[in-house]
Amino acid sequence: MNRTRRLIVVSNREPYTLKAGRLEKTVGGLVSALDPVMQVSKGVWVASGGVPGEWKGKKPKKRVKVPPENPSYILHRVFLDEGVFDGYYNGYSNRFLWPLCHITLDKIYLKRSYWLNYRRANRLFAEAVIEEAGRGDVVVWLHDYHLALCAGEIKRMRKDAVVSLFWHIPWPSYDVFRICPQRQDILEGMLANDLLGFQLDLFKYNFLRCVDLELGAGVDYKGGYIHYKDHTTRVRAFPISVDFRWFEKAASSKGAERFLERFVKERGLEGLMLGLSVDRLDYTKGIIKCLEALELFFMKYPRFKDRFTFVQIAVPTRAVEPYLSYRELVRRKVASINKRFSRARWHPVEYIEDRFSQQELAALYRGSDVAIISSVYDGMNLVAKEYIASQVDLRGTLLISQFAGAAEDIPGAVIINPYDIESCADAIKTALEAEPARKRDALRKAREHIKKNDIYRWVDNILKELRNIK
Ligand code: UDP
Repeated sequence: MNRTRRLIVVSNREPYTLKAGRLEKTVGGLVSALDPVMQVSKGVWVASGGVPGEWKGKKPKKRVKVPPENPSYILHRVFLDEGVFDGYYNGYSNRFLWPLCHITLDKIYLKRSYWLNYRRANRLFAEAVIEEAGRGDVVVWLHDYHLALCAGEIKRMRKDAVVSLFWHIPWPSYDVFRICPQRQDILEGMLANDLLGFQLDLFKYNFLRCVDLELGAGVDYKGGYIHYKDHTTRVRAFPISVDFRWFEKAASSKGAERFLERFVKERGLEGLMLGLSVDRLDYTKGIIKCLEALELFFMKYPRFKDRFTFVQIAVPTRAVEPYLSYRELVRRKVASINKRFSRARWHPVEYIEDRFSQQELAALYRGSDVAIISSVYDGMNLVAKEYIASQVDLRGTLLISQFAGAAEDIPGAVIINPYDIESCADAIKTALEAEPARKRDALRKAREHIKKNDIYRWVDNILKELRNIK
């Protein structure tokens, strides 16, 4: 980053959260990749400081230097009233934009107050940015669908700021996007950015089309530029990735071996082939589709009874509707499959509703013969790339939904259509019977690609593009 430009990152989630009076680093690729960049550039990270219920009495400080062991950049917390936070985060972001962008239209729920609070929250994030920007040159990097209006607010106060937004989730086609009553405001807010990043060319194209049809803006589809009201926005695809070397090392460690041994023993899975899915309990992850495919698999290929168990890790998320109903559906489906096929010492599905550390996940990824990503729609899906990075023995197979962004970015993976249950069931069987040499070849190809295109490269590519903006 140019020394004279201050880097300000903005995301809803904090890179460090206060837990029992201590600052703990947030788990995730984005924080791992940006934390070192922030430490070197001595920038500022603006994020939501949460709501009173989460603080256990003591309100965190507005500004704090992080990381605790090497204080080098500022974490600036934005405190939103409970009502504003609820409308902006649970409401407009998660009950409207999330299902809209993931084309799960029956899940959409919208109230006017959601929108008003979303606008208010975006304004407050922008004010925090301005407070931190100082007088010199500033580059602002916004993250995700929580902040669609932030660039517009920032530019109103600081026209000279260079502002970019990375949209981590899919962008739907205009047919779907026009459901949004606030579509013009959302698009205009986003066009205040100098650089817009999407995961895939498809999402980038969908966005260009929306702007073209809704606003009649000048759209250069080939070059990826939008000209609107005397401003130009570059639009690019940057598929996000994972810290390949970290997962490779974690999976290769003695600790991983010990964890896997214990996991298998405690759950009575010794000597079995293992399947694995790791998902938040979110309806976009297609967990039900995967379970339906498994049910059919055990019906069609009973020889796998006593030989193969599928481990479904379901991470609790958003304890509100429609998530609670989805969780019930998943629990019921698992119970019915286990009731139907279990034998004295064997059960088909090991269902675990819990969160694991990434060290533990690396061990499970390494030890699984097949991993299934069955998302019905997903911006990228990092679990898929983490699985590949952790396959240090080159023995597994990744089955990935054609509707997960990662399917386009992992050569060698087996693409499945989660709506086509019969083909999915057959794909599981084929994966479990595949020749070791073929699996090794596929994994080598996939690992090479992800190792080269890791999360650090993703950050570099975006910062490079930002440097070119005057
Ligand atoms: N993850 C985790 N513990 C768990 C399950 C998942 O730390 O028990 C992490 C996982 O390693 C991955 C992220 O959560 O980095 C999930 O990212 P993904 O893109 O697959 O899905 P998202 O939840 O962001 O929609």
